[in-house]
Amino acid sequence: MSNPSILILAGDGIGPEVMGEVKKIIGWYGDKRGLHFDVSEDLVGGCAYDKHGTPLHDDTMAKAQEVDAVLLGAVGGPKYDNLDFSVKPERGLLRLRKEMDLFSNLRPAQCFDALADFSSLKKEVVAGLDIVIVRELTSGIYFGEPRGIITEGNERVGINTQRYTESEIARVARSAFELARKRNNKVCSMEKANVMESGILWRQVVTEIHDKEYPDVELSHMYADAGAMQLCRWPKQFDVIVTDNLFGDLLSDAAAMLTGSLGMLPSASLGAPMANGRPKALYEPVHGSAPDIAGQGKANPIACILSFAMALRYSFDKGDEATRLEQAIEKVLADGVRTADLLGPEGGKPVSTSEMGDKIIEALDASL
Ligand code: NAD
Repeated sequence: MSNPSILILAGDGIGPEVMGEVKKIIGWYGDKRGLHFDVSEDLVGGCAYDKHGTPLHDDTMAKAQEVDAVLLGAVGGPKYDNLDFSVKPERGLLRLRKEMDLFSNLRPAQCFDALADFSSLKKEVVAGLDIVIVRELTSGIYFGEPRGIITEGNERVGINTQRYTESEIARVARSAFELARKRNNKVCSMEKANVMESGILWRQVVTEIHDKEYPDVELSHMYADAGAMQLCRWPKQFDVIVTDNLFGDLLSDAAAMLTGSLGMLPSASLGAPMANGRPKALYEPVHGSAPDIAGQGKANPIACILSFAMALRYSFDKGDEATRLEQAIEKVLADGVRTADLLGPEGGKPVSTSEMGDKIIEALDASL
């Protein structure tokens, strides 16, 4: 059987720097765990525009459709700010998400004990936090028609439409229930069924899918505004939260910041299963290309490395190896190793991007 395949699109700015550390870790899994991947690399974003005049070449798009997982670094930078909208670096990323039909966006909020002081909430509220928000990514109010700004009488009216089909709700609900089964088996679905018909349908469909296909998973429902309050009050009550595109956008950003630094936040975007049963998948850190620190060896590679851990868990069914990697990161942080973004007001000497990668590999070695 051939090895699972990965397409690396490191992108711009700090993308190639943080991805360099992921490549070392992929190498470690081959050498030390016999877990070999067929890795190919290509361009996305500004670097693709520089070479091809487009932020995502058709050949790259075709490769992304074929592989088991895409790992993306980051795109963009000041050099590209004045480009036409149609060829801006971000368009490359949007095209990948759209053409791969990545409808389920997983944003974990995981708080490593050693960084609990970084949160704006009290340490006991966030220490040990480990939740995932599943956001529907390809439908809802950001895409619904009619939309636009029209004139009615003598004033302008802004219009957007929240629209969900049953099948769109069902597929993201399944994705959340599947995820919960690999975690603590609990899903909380959030909508506004009290004031929105789309919310009523959302609640009905999630309940139907649960009762028919996932009765073993514990399901609860919450209005999204109450959910936002509960996320700040006691986030550890949740395991998996599933919600629509708009509420998910807000709730996942709020939940992510419970945990501190942007340099720590991974994400996964999943689509329908391919012929081999694996979902189409793109893994990327939440942060951007950080032009202010690019090329200086200062970037924190952990968000990108945690994104690879998600790939191990969700694309390659290697949850135990994903946990090994997460524990190695936890150990390094507990030992006080910090990139500059993780230094608190008391300061200290930061390690470089590659030193952080090396420390994580040492911790992986120690785990054997
Ligand atoms: P950013 O995430 O790149 O940076 C925000 C701040 O966080 C900066 O001070 C940066 O130095 C810091 N930071 C981010 N990642 C870090 C890391 N791994 N380690 C240490 N510090 C880190 O956001 P921005 O400055 O608003 O955007 C910069 C560029 O990135 C823009 O061109 C934007 O369009 C693009 N962007 C791309 C993506 C993506 O590729 N998914 C996401 C957001 C922004």
